[in-house]
Amino acid sequence: MPNNRPQRITLLGATGSIGASTLDVIGRHPARFEAFALTAHVQVERLFELSLRFAPRYAVLTDAAAASELRRRLAAEGSRTEVLSGGAALLEVAAHPDADAVMAAIVGAVGLAPALAAARAGKRVLLANKEALVLSGHLFMEAVAASGAQLLPIDSEHNAVFQALPQGYARDPRACGVRRILLTASGGPFRERPVETLASVTPDEACAHPNWVMGRKISVDSATMMNKGLEVIEAHWLFGVPAECIEVVIHPQSVIHSLVDYTDGSVLAQLGNPDMRTPIAHALAYPERIEAGVRALDLFEIGRLTFERPDLARFPCLDLAYRALRAGGAAAAVLNAANEEAVAAFLDGRLGFHRIAEVIAASLERAPGLSVDSIEAILDADACARDIARGEIRARQGSR
Ligand code: NAD
Ligand code: MG
Repeated sequence: MPNNRPQRITLLGATGSIGASTLDVIGRHPARFEAFALTAHVQVERLFELSLRFAPRYAVLTDAAAASELRRRLAAEGSRTEVLSGGAALLEVAAHPDADAVMAAIVGAVGLAPALAAARAGKRVLLANKEALVLSGHLFMEAVAASGAQLLPIDSEHNAVFQALPQGYARDPRACGVRRILLTASGGPFRERPVETLASVTPDEACAHPNWVMGRKISVDSATMMNKGLEVIEAHWLFGVPAECIEVVIHPQSVIHSLVDYTDGSVLAQLGNPDMRTPIAHALAYPERIEAGVRALDLFEIGRLTFERPDLARFPCLDLAYRALRAGGAAAAVLNAANEEAVAAFLDGRLGFHRIAEVIAASLERAPGLSVDSIEAILDADACARDIARGEIRARQGSR
């Protein structure tokens, strides 16, 4: 804890699923942590409640009209929280000199700029937003190295790998005898559903994850297994491991959160109940351990742990992600942008579930060679890929 005062946390995406779990852990340890800034997109009511409860120095809404309403309502309660709005305010609270740590939990590519601002400012960055690394892995890791920021993974698989790697691991698997990283995946809600019925999947069915309660976008990604594909790319950048040394293992119980396979035959795993408060508490308190409100794991109750090889015919998105990682260049940015567009179209009824992978494959095929040499170039590539994906979605609208 800096100078024995509570660590000041900027929470980007405070109204989401990761936001709620983070505030739950922070709320359990008021002497250790305080909410410095809470941000959200448009959710006035929720951010109003959170601002009264956690009294952050700043509350940020990206939407200006929503921010005006929040400002008026908080002022009426005598709150001292300052309300800011817009993308520039997100960057400001992410890089603020008085913030000690930044939880990056905005969903999608829009979370890249503030997460990168925190990395450039040398913060302790707790990274939940996997899309940021998929889009800009090289530049993001460079920014972390240049500023001396401390990057701690929140995604449960990557947090598990981080815990199973040696202390001070420096993105060099060979130097530590790391042979493979094994990322576990639940297989989502459609692991056993007949493939020919996937065309009729509804958004609510896709979001009904068997083991985790999450935001809707990542829930659909889990149902297509694009989530695991994005995580393979995320693992590549975080741990410096090539695609061929990252293997996905379906483990429906979601008790083993991932494993590291060493050259001497040792395999180290991290286990726990599927509850995001565990990786969040781990990263918030690192290298110490704190209570997270998570039930102790009862192995007798679980009884059996099982493993399966993923079926790439059922989960073509996983294969597309491996291909994008191997292709390099802008392919991962195109994959991510096309996926975000396709998932949004599926969630609002414009695209069949089984068409998500088709749209991504066609977008990867059609995207021209795009530069990813700077953040501006990456955001241009993202915009270009979205245009292509929207065309692919329109071409399939209404077709079964
Ligand atoms: P969510 O949809 O529940 O919450 C998203 C948050 O982002 C909300 O606070 C929302 O206000 C904010 N947001 C959305 N669009 C925005 C925009 N345009 N500008 C600014 N803010 C915006 O999502 P989630 O499930 O909490 O996931 C957040 C991130 O964490 C994702 O990248 C996801 O992949 C990752 N993640 C989530 C989980 C999980 O268990 N939920 C696990 C691992 C990784
Ligand atoms: Mg995960």
